[in-house]
Amino acid sequence: MNQTCDYSCAYVTLFTDGTEVGYGMTFTIGRGNDIVVYAAEQVAERLVGKSTAELFGDMGAMWTYLLSDPQHRWIGPEKGVIHLATAAVVNAVWDMYARSQNKPLWRLIADMSPEEIVRSTCFRYITDALTPDEALKILKDKEAGRKDRIAHVEKEGYPAYVTSVGWYGYSDELVEERTRHWLKAGFNHFKLKVGVNVDDDRRRMALIRRIIDDPKNSEGVPRPDPATIAGKNAGPTDCVLMIDANQVWDMQEAVDYVSQLAEFKPWFIEEPTAPDDVLAHAEIRRQLAPLGVGVATGEHAHNRMVFKQLLQAKAIDVCQIDSCRLAGVNEILGVLLMSAKYGVPVCPHAGGIGLCQYTIHLSLIDYVAISGSIDTNVLEYAQHLHENFVNPVSLNAKGRYNVPSVADEGYSIQITDESRAKYVYPHGSYWSSPEAGKIASKAVNGHTNGHVNGKANGVAVNGH
Ligand SMILES: [Mg+2]
Repeated sequence: MNQTCDYSCAYVTLFTDGTEVGYGMTFTIGRGNDIVVYAAEQVAERLVGKSTAELFGDMGAMWTYLLSDPQHRWIGPEKGVIHLATAAVVNAVWDMYARSQNKPLWRLIADMSPEEIVRSTCFRYITDALTPDEALKILKDKEAGRKDRIAHVEKEGYPAYVTSVGWYGYSDELVEERTRHWLKAGFNHFKLKVGVNVDDDRRRMALIRRIIDDPKNSEGVPRPDPATIAGKNAGPTDCVLMIDANQVWDMQEAVDYVSQLAEFKPWFIEEPTAPDDVLAHAEIRRQLAPLGVGVATGEHAHNRMVFKQLLQAKAIDVCQIDSCRLAGVNEILGVLLMSAKYGVPVCPHAGGIGLCQYTIHLSLIDYVAISGSIDTNVLEYAQHLHENFVNPVSLNAKGRYNVPSVADEGYSIQITDESRAKYVYPHGSYWSSPEAGKIASKAVNGHTNGHVNGKANGVAVNGH
């Protein structure tokens, strides 16, 4: 379980000898961030001397090249620290490419031909689930409707759900206050952390259900389109509840525990068990199906092959990609395409720091160019830390993500100069403040590796 997190990131800036610049980051939850910073520096070294025309001319080849350092393979391959670090670098290249075209990242890809998207996608090890020809067909089938879907989502926004109602550590009073707040803000999907104490979880789920199911509490808030809540165990006011266990249980424990929560009608249980255990997820899903509770996972699935197996084994109802655990846009395109083929909706993992910034682009790519679906999909939203970004994500009056629209915002991950100066570890001004004392005391003694050769910066930001 993710306890006592200090939201942090390894932040990469790619410079050129021209004016082009690219920003990328990968998220961590505190100690260990410096290890990722160092790894990102190592990965980025492979780009030195390359021309941007060569990189942008074949983004698929760029990805393969970055992933194929024969010596880095031993500390992966394609998992763990080296994969997280690769994500930061790959995303920085995509950010630079989008900026060079004066388009937000989602729009760069939404304007690509199906053939270009296929060329940018990593298919290695997944062709038993999805071939490039099948991917091309999925993309061509959706090509004609792209313009209409862009117009729709620019007007309506992209649907969101909120996790900031039921963190562990919240008192019942705070859970109630947060639930009422987000209900009024237009949200109708709410997620709660569970898994430590079943009595507490039952009490908290009952509390949230009482609030969201009472029509008086959402007076004046427009009802959602019925298609957006179909199959989600919505209550009488069309509100949906989800639960997240952050991997705490063994397989049968998960089934037994969630069975005791089923009366509160969650749409799904997220991360019920070890993230690599595909067959346990499949068995949990099989056993919970009669209770009407689905299974979601993916924020800790470390590469496209795990997603392939989750889909092949019919282990998930909802696919939760992580924008920087998978190694950037190229690998994510493969997972979006596989999910479209298997008919599983993608609802990306977000929150932390920077993940909402990244994932709105990925959900838009999925909707506009790949699945064409927006009815079931909801993108996670957490309200904290957006102020650290130059182009922060925002919500419209209906509680939906606004579409990134600034020509030079790229992948929307550039951190403000002010925040970097304040939070870069360990020399940022924040780290000499009394407030930071407790966090700094948890850092490795004598560790001073916050700024590596001006290329990768560890930025640690106090979460909650
Ligand atoms: Mg989660």
